[in-house]
Amino acid sequence: MKFSRRTFLKASGAAGCSLAAYAALPEKFLLWAEEQGMLKASYVPTFCEICFWKCGAMAKVLNGRVVKLEGNPAHPGARGKLCARGNGGAGLLYDPNRLKTPLIRTGARGEQKYRKATWDEALDLIASKLKRIKAESGPESVALFTHGTPTDHFLPLLFAYGSPNVGMPSFAQCRGPRDVGLELTFGEGIGSPERVDLTRSKVLVLFGSHLGENMHNSQVQDFADALAAGSKLIVVDPRFSIAAGKAHSWLPIRPATDLALMLAWIHVIIKEQLYDKAYLDSYATGFAELAEAVSDCTPEWAAKETDLSAESIVETARLLGHNAPNVCIHPGRHATWYGDDVQRSRAIGILAALLGSWGREGGYFLATRSSLPKLEGKPFPEPVKAPLNLGNFPFAGAEGVTQEIRRATLTGEPYPIKGWIVTGTNLMKAMPNQKETVEAINKLDLLVVVDVMPTDTAMMADVILPECTYLERHDALAVGKGRSLSISLRQPALQPLYDSKPGWWIAKQIANRLDLGDYFPWQTLEEKIQAQCALWGVNYQELKKVGTITIPDSANPYITADAPAEFKTGSGKIELYSKELKEKGFDPVPRYTRHPGPRPGEFRLVYGRSPVHTFSRTANNPELHELYPENEVWINSGKAKELGVKNGEYVVLVNQDGVRSNRIKAKVTQRIRTDCVYVVHGFGAASKGLSRAFAKGADDQGMITRYAVDPICGSTGMHVNFVRVEKEGVHA
Ligand code: SF4
Repeated sequence: MKFSRRTFLKASGAAGCSLAAYAALPEKFLLWAEEQGMLKASYVPTFCEICFWKCGAMAKVLNGRVVKLEGNPAHPGARGKLCARGNGGAGLLYDPNRLKTPLIRTGARGEQKYRKATWDEALDLIASKLKRIKAESGPESVALFTHGTPTDHFLPLLFAYGSPNVGMPSFAQCRGPRDVGLELTFGEGIGSPERVDLTRSKVLVLFGSHLGENMHNSQVQDFADALAAGSKLIVVDPRFSIAAGKAHSWLPIRPATDLALMLAWIHVIIKEQLYDKAYLDSYATGFAELAEAVSDCTPEWAAKETDLSAESIVETARLLGHNAPNVCIHPGRHATWYGDDVQRSRAIGILAALLGSWGREGGYFLATRSSLPKLEGKPFPEPVKAPLNLGNFPFAGAEGVTQEIRRATLTGEPYPIKGWIVTGTNLMKAMPNQKETVEAINKLDLLVVVDVMPTDTAMMADVILPECTYLERHDALAVGKGRSLSISLRQPALQPLYDSKPGWWIAKQIANRLDLGDYFPWQTLEEKIQAQCALWGVNYQELKKVGTITIPDSANPYITADAPAEFKTGSGKIELYSKELKEKGFDPVPRYTRHPGPRPGEFRLVYGRSPVHTFSRTANNPELHELYPENEVWINSGKAKELGVKNGEYVVLVNQDGVRSNRIKAKVTQRIRTDCVYVVHGFGAASKGLSRAFAKGADDQGMITRYAVDPICGSTGMHVNFVRVEKEGVHA
């Protein structure tokens, strides 16, 4: 269609209408009008929330409509670029399926029947139920499940109310064991974004991590730069991932045996004296015990466990040793695989220590030591009852163990949980064993979900509160503690659409109704942000303009003579042998145990990421859905032939407990081993409110009925389920 000034004005309804009215016009008109000089765009700096990398973004706004998102060149996580998902932010903003108004349940739980409510009615109802639970069972009987920026608003609400019981799936269902393993070894985790020094690495190793398919913006930029500069890549993965296609060595390992390979690498590096002796002498403890513990972890032994050749194990171990310390074994992110995940993370840490890579160029850079003072608020009350969200796991993190809260909800032990507040997470797609989650929800007196979209979990709630998107709100300042200290601002590019509200406002309104308003003393979140900036000596007006400020001279990335290493472990050194673990009854050096494999006719279910989706969060996003509307199941071509399954044909997955998936397309390929199948996580929505994502693809979480709990930190290994593949319509 060709546009002219006349058609533009006609399309707007009247030549004399206000410019604001043009905002309702299709984007093509607005962009054309901008080209013609009739409209002028403004750019609002903010940071992205399509995933949790928090990339700085510039929202291009034409007459009140966000028409484009671009990366903020000043932001260290974006560097002027957004990933495809970040570009899809406007798709979330204008998704007609968004939650538009508070909703109160009218049908049975799970029937997905709701009526519209006013904010006052919905908030009053929540407050009255929270007051009743507090009076009858104590404040500890309310739990918060949360992820991402809503945590900044709802965790203070939970603590002010008097409950310590928070559960974040990002710990027990994701990176918890990785962080605990590295903390036990080095006294600190790897951070998020991970402090991996990819661009200076001579050798990179990926264990199951599929960078490029897992599209964390700056990390993928670094990965591409590293490969372009000639870094050698070792990919350990049962699947020939996109990254494996770039690899010097692809090791198609038998699933669940990664720890055996790591121990064999440690064995070879010690035996052939490829380790950094001076580094270990200065910084590590427990070398003799480590050497003793891995003395029988020979390449030949590992070859039998891993289904790799002993030669390839030795060759790759030597590649690591000969390139030390500029070697980066990526510790991964979603580390909850088999229930011994802390020990696998420890093994990665031990390898990093042997190679002298921690705090060294091309390995892992150190976090800035600079910090900012806290804006003090009213102290929270001490809970009367001990927290139950840590279970009996000695190294559970402060983020809590989600399934312990679920268990207490089901059993009433050690005390009952009566209310859940859920913000920023879709528990039905995050926690293993959906049946347990549904049963727990059915025991609650109150389930409140605060979200932008009608997720599967939202559609179980008693009250649903519509949060506006990140493009319509302020959030807490993002303080980045990467190489340098940085401060980023999220600010609205436009006013909230529909009757949606910012998370901070929602938390404050609930607090006011519970007589806890003192914990939210600011009239607006922007006021609080300004006070924080004043405390930190940051020019708020400047921050509003640029979006991100990096504090100069705040980087200290490598160990140097002037800045020697500090390790906050019990011994003050890198712990190759962990006395702390020993004292708590665990292996002080990682020890391999064999995990059950698939029975005949079964495949291990392995899941991962798509470059254009963030779990279930984006499955309904109109723009991202168009790019990848449903997941596929990767199946080895030889196995597919045996089953008579053709590429592109719909099949059904049936797990070991008889749970059947939605139909899912088969991707028949030689790029995967014969003993596992692979799907992208987050599809197969059950919420009828998600018109695009509903019943599209298979819900891998529905297949994850079993999980292996890591006894060290309580995280749930979820790569322990097995499925059969059936042709659609054929029941075995
Ligand atoms: S990595 Fe992509 S989705 Fe995640 S914050 Fe950055 S731009 Fe957004």
